[in-house]
Amino acid sequence: MKVTNPANGKLIQELKDDTLSSVEAKYQAARRAQGAWAARPLSERQACIEKFKQGVIRDTEKLARIMTDETGKPISQSRNELKGLIGRLDFFIESTAKVLKPEVVLDDPAQKLKETITLEPLGVIANISAWNYPWFVGSNVYVPALLTGNTVIYKPSEFATLTGLEMGRLLHEAGVPSDAFSVLVGGGEVGQALLKQKIDGVFFTGSYATGKKISEAVGGRMIRVQMELGGKDPVYIADDVVNGAGVKAVAEGTADGAFYNNGQSCCAVERIYVHEKIYDEYVSHFVKTVEGFVSGDPADDKTYLSVLTRSQQIAVLEDQIADAVAKGAKIALGGKRKGPNGGTTIEPTVVLNVNSSMKLMQEESFGPMIGIQKVRDDAEALSLMNDSEYGLTAGIFCTDRTRGKNLLEGVHAGSAYWNCCDRVSPRLPWAGRGHSGVGATLSTYGILAFVQTKGWHERG
Ligand code: NAD
Repeated sequence: MKVTNPANGKLIQELKDDTLSSVEAKYQAARRAQGAWAARPLSERQACIEKFKQGVIRDTEKLARIMTDETGKPISQSRNELKGLIGRLDFFIESTAKVLKPEVVLDDPAQKLKETITLEPLGVIANISAWNYPWFVGSNVYVPALLTGNTVIYKPSEFATLTGLEMGRLLHEAGVPSDAFSVLVGGGEVGQALLKQKIDGVFFTGSYATGKKISEAVGGRMIRVQMELGGKDPVYIADDVVNGAGVKAVAEGTADGAFYNNGQSCCAVERIYVHEKIYDEYVSHFVKTVEGFVSGDPADDKTYLSVLTRSQQIAVLEDQIADAVAKGAKIALGGKRKGPNGGTTIEPTVVLNVNSSMKLMQEESFGPMIGIQKVRDDAEALSLMNDSEYGLTAGIFCTDRTRGKNLLEGVHAGSAYWNCCDRVSPRLPWAGRGHSGVGATLSTYGILAFVQTKGWHERG
C-alpha cells in the first residue's frame, strides 16, 4: 500500500498489505487471546484504556500531523478530533462497570428461586472503519469492545492506515496484548478477507454501498452486525429565529455544520430548508460566511477548508452540480474543481433553487457543497426533511422550544438537534435509521452492543 498526502500527492510511506493468510493468523491469535483478556478484572482493562488515553494526550501533536498528512484534514481540526476523543474515552472508562453489573430480577426464598441477568462478551470483533474521523469512529467500537472483554481485529480505512497503526501502537504500549487488538493494512479485499473468518460480530463504519455488501456477505451467519453509515442530514431554519439567535448567527452556525472537515462528516449538514420569510437574509449571510472560510494547506494552522481526502469524490460532486443545474438550480458560489493535477478539491459551493428531484438533495455529497431550498411553512419543511432514504440526524433552528420539539418528534432520524447541528455526544446513542445504519455506538447502548445476555435460573 502506498500512503500518499492528498494535498500534494507525495508518497508518505509504503506498507505491506495484509493477505488472506496473515488475516487468518491474526484472527486465530485474537480467538486464542479472547478468554484470557475477558478473564482479566475489568479494572485492568480500564487501566489499559486510561493509559491509552494518556498516550493520546502525550502524542497529540504527532498524531494530529499524521492524520493531517494522510487525510488532508486541516491541522486545527485534527487537533480538535484528538481533544474530543478524551471525553469519549472517559465516558467509556466510567460507564462500563455500571453497564456490566449483574441484575438480579427475582430473589424469592419461598420458591427458592433466583433469576439474574449477566452480560458476556461477544468474542472476536471485526471493526471495519472509515477515514473521515478515524479516531472517533474507530474508538467508538474498539474501546467499548475491549472494555467488555472482546478481542478486536481493526481494519482502518486505506485512507487512514498510519493513524490506525498509531492506535495499535498506543493500545499495545498501554498493556492491551498484541493478539487482543490487531490492525490490518489494506483496502476492501482485506476487509473481505476479515469477513471470511469466524468472527462473532462485525461493526462497520462507512458508506451505505459498502455496508450493504458487508450485511449481505455475513447474512445468515447469526452474528452481531452493526452499521454506522452515511447521511443526508437536513436542517430547517424557521422564521422565528429572528426573535432568538438571529438569522446571521444561525447562518454562520449552519455553514460551519455543512463545511467543517471539508464537509466530510457523516452528520454534516447536507440539506438546508429555510422559511420563505427569512430566506433571502439567511442566504446572504450564509454565502458571506462561506466566502470567509480560509482555504489552504491542511498543515497550516489557519486553514479551515483544505482538500478532499479522496479526489475521486470530485467527480461525484461535479455530477451532482451538473444534475442540479440541468434541473434549474442556480450556483450562488463555487462549483469548480481546484488544486493541482486535475484538482484536489472543489470550491466551497452553495446551490440555490434546488428541489428533491436533484441528486444534490438526495445522495450524500460528502464534500464542501450544499443546497438551500426555500419552504412555505413547517409542514412543508418536515415533509422535505423526511424525503430521504437516510436518517442519521435532523436539526430545527427556531426560538419556540415547543415548535421545535413537535417538529423533531416527526423527523425520521436517530439524532434530533434543536438549535444545533453536526454534534456528537458520548452520552447519547449514535444511531442511524434507514440507509444510515443499524444499531448504536456511544452511550450505554454503545457498550451493550458488544455483549450478549445470559439469563440465570437458579433453584435451591
Ligand atoms: P467506504 O464504505 O468506502 O469504506 C469503509 C471501509 O470499508 C474501509 O475500511 C474499506 O476498506 C472497507 N471496505 C470496502 N469494501 C469492502 C468490502 N467489500 N468488504 C469489507 N470491507 C470493505 O467508506 P469511507 O469512504 O471510508 O467512509 C465514508 C462514509 O462513511 C460516508 O458515507 C460517511 O457518511 C460514513 N460515515 C458514517 C459514520 C457514522 O457514524 N454513521 C461515521 C463516519 C463516516
